[in-house]
Amino acid sequence: MSQNVLNYINGNWVGSSSGVVLHSINPANIHERVGTFPDSSEADVDRAVAAAKDAFLQWKALSPISRGQFLHRAADLLEQRVEEIALTATKEMGKTLAETRGEVLRGVAILRYYSQEGSRKEGDVIPSADRRNLLYTQRVPLGVVGVISPWNFPIAIPLWKMAPALIYGNTVVFKPAAETSITAAKIVEVFADAQLPAGVLNLVHGSGTTAGAAIVRHHGVQAITFTGSNQVGKQVAAEAAARGAKFQLEMGGKNPVIVLEDADLELAAELTVSGAMKHTGQKCTATSRCFVHRSVYEPFKQKVLAKVQAIKVGSGLEEGVYMGPLASQKQFEKVISYIEQGKREGAALLYGGKALEEGPYQHGFFVQPTVFENVKNEMVIAQEEIFGPVLCLIKVDSFEEAVEQANATRFGLAASLFTRDLAKALAFVEKIDVGMVKVNGETAGVEPQAAFGGMKDSSSLSREQGQAAVEFFTTLKTVTITPTP
Ligand code: NAD
Repeated sequence: MSQNVLNYINGNWVGSSSGVVLHSINPANIHERVGTFPDSSEADVDRAVAAAKDAFLQWKALSPISRGQFLHRAADLLEQRVEEIALTATKEMGKTLAETRGEVLRGVAILRYYSQEGSRKEGDVIPSADRRNLLYTQRVPLGVVGVISPWNFPIAIPLWKMAPALIYGNTVVFKPAAETSITAAKIVEVFADAQLPAGVLNLVHGSGTTAGAAIVRHHGVQAITFTGSNQVGKQVAAEAAARGAKFQLEMGGKNPVIVLEDADLELAAELTVSGAMKHTGQKCTATSRCFVHRSVYEPFKQKVLAKVQAIKVGSGLEEGVYMGPLASQKQFEKVISYIEQGKREGAALLYGGKALEEGPYQHGFFVQPTVFENVKNEMVIAQEEIFGPVLCLIKVDSFEEAVEQANATRFGLAASLFTRDLAKALAFVEKIDVGMVKVNGETAGVEPQAAFGGMKDSSSLSREQGQAAVEFFTTLKTVTITPTP
């Protein structure tokens, strides 16, 4: 059944000013329309920003503990809708139901975590040179925050932005990725049902170039938190900086694993394959380059191959499917063109490499899980973010060579080392230029109570999640009180 969702502005569900709607389709079966959503204009963004601005002073005036009660209620309501929201997300962007269920539960955990953040300290008392003075800092909200999010984690990413924005006293205008608009509306419904005051959270659907860009340009928006591609992130940064708004960017990755001669090869193969292929490779932290010590290359390769051969591709709604379709035609065309590029560059196709177009796959954006070997780190497929289920195997002769090549990319999001050697593990932590470092773990996977973010071109170097979020969503007042005699 097609679901038709609206914008949410000042506590009301409303259409766009033009009345035009766009369609959300199922990438496993493009003939299935999941629903419609408004194609919002700059005028709709203006209304949403005005509502958020009007709501700000009252929301800010609440105690953070009272604000936390709204998040707490939203967490409970979200928990009651796990199946329904997971089903919608799978239909909109294709990953498996197990993956979307896990993501909704992650959303619940994020809301519960931030519902408690309001009871932490709001500043520090600092000694003053003048003994009479009371000198202290106080964290204060920024105002209206624009939240712009991608389709690959349509529940967790908006929530890990909105929850801290709200608990620290900001109001929000949220522009989700068009591909996952119906899911986004359900997330906002949860806040509406939790009786969040009107105007505190506003939802504006539509395209990035119209609704998204209007939020970034808007002088009523004090800060923009963006997750998405590097290309768009750079535009967001330039616009925001030009008008003096605060911005935070989390962008792409080209995440390496290194498998040393003493690694547990079974574990390394399992976590390399899951890091590369789960979510159909559409994670910013997905494993895409695998540097393997020459002495264990053959047995490791055989283990990877066996695991990739066993992957069941299909609709994310089907039981037993490991890998759903790519999320959109754009994604499909991009991934296929990178696979062709890899072949042209002289990488050897070890497995996969084709679109799946017959039988149950004929109406969706399905590709085979793909593994290249004889890859050189300079090749385009080893340097650019493919954002699909494509893994590159690269032989190395030493730990030092592996780390040097792992670092030889413009990205710096996540990396993992497989070894039993503690000294190498510590040297890896020291030398690898990424924000998320793992030893004997998958490159993907973050815990919501810890800081998350990348280095180099993967990020604007600010951090999301955990207590790190306070840095972006607040600023400091420094107060000196001198009593008069
Ligand atoms: P995208 O950059 O195309 O879109 C992201 C969001 O920006 C969407 O809501 C889109 O509508 C909006 N947008 C597009 N053009 C805009 C503009 N000119 N002004 C303002 N907003 C605009 O990215 P995507 O395809 O949705 O997501 C995939 C990308 O996201 C990948 O590069 C991936 O690595 C990255 N990502 C990063 C992280 C991370 O935390 N580092 C997490 C998930 C995804």
